[in-house]
Amino acid sequence: MHITANFDAGNIDVINLDNKNNIQLAIRPDVGEEFFQWFNFRLSGEVGEQYVLNIVNAGQASYLAGWENYQAVASYDREYWFRLPISYTDGKLTITVELECDTIQIAYFAPYSYERHQDLLAAVQTHPLVTLEHLGETLDKRDLTLVNISDGNNEVNKRNIWITARQHPGETMAEWLVEGLLYSLLDSDNATAKLLLEKANVYIVPNMNPDGSVRGHLRTNAVGTNLNREWSNPSLEKSPEVFHVINKMETTGVDLFYDVHGDEALPYVFLAGSQGTPSYSDRLARLRDKFSEVLKIASADFQSEVGYDIDAPGTANMTIATHWVAERFDCLANTLEMPFKDNNNLPFEDTGWSPERSAKLGEASLVAMLAVVDDLR
Ligand code: ZN
Repeated sequence: MHITANFDAGNIDVINLDNKNNIQLAIRPDVGEEFFQWFNFRLSGEVGEQYVLNIVNAGQASYLAGWENYQAVASYDREYWFRLPISYTDGKLTITVELECDTIQIAYFAPYSYERHQDLLAAVQTHPLVTLEHLGETLDKRDLTLVNISDGNNEVNKRNIWITARQHPGETMAEWLVEGLLYSLLDSDNATAKLLLEKANVYIVPNMNPDGSVRGHLRTNAVGTNLNREWSNPSLEKSPEVFHVINKMETTGVDLFYDVHGDEALPYVFLAGSQGTPSYSDRLARLRDKFSEVLKIASADFQSEVGYDIDAPGTANMTIATHWVAERFDCLANTLEMPFKDNNNLPFEDTGWSPERSAKLGEASLVAMLAVVDDLR
């Protein structure tokens, strides 16, 4: 029996491996020790044997409601990710697995590897509508890359759509969504995409936080900064990722912003808007309503009944990307939240919420963008 997390986005500390019916593990906190919940490791053992794994510090994790009705994600081939039942009692998360192959990878959600991230960038740059732009370096000296999609027609006064994902690196569903959205947008047989690109330039940052991703963090970058609390005052020392993206936004302008996330606790897909910002207006409210209504039709996974409490006017936290961008550019801005668990309105028993469903939601998002694009300014 053997356990390792010594790979891209791996996260687990082995405490005790003496008894296969009581393997003791702990999640390693993000740098700064403020957050943890993401785990990702590989168990090697004997086919047909049962193993009981206890994550003993689960009770100190960042979002305890995240463990309620949660099921872990696992894969034998690292392509198909299925759910493993867990129990959460007395601050301990217990995963029981009977091995069907020699090794199994177990994670908080289907990982989106740094290699896949680079594959995605390399694949899309061969498309004639795409240019890749190096925005700057992260603190671990990784590239922060912007995918710029334009049909090259500059005679039309185009809108500028910005999409960012994985400010919180453990929310891998965000990059799965971006992958689906990107390939749909570049599909020459997709009429929605073609029309959208006649009306808008699209700027996508598929991974806002590559350092946190590779390090196996839940929520922060290489120095423990929560990037989605940095937008009003980013710095090269603490949050170069946000600093560089804002610099570029200032040169392009922003007419629609879509910041993609995952939520640990709520088993639904929902939007969180900019209602509490100082300059929120009827115009932005109408745009938001239309976007939401069309997304509901485009994807049965999306709903608007359950979500975060709406900020009272003028009370928005302006360090959050969606709020800051909405205010700075007077534009429609939304945070999209997907579940780590499942969509309770439409549960998929074997997989729960999955990479595939995230990607489909990415494609559906284009329909909602097209629905509002003419009214963005
Ligand atoms: Zn998030």
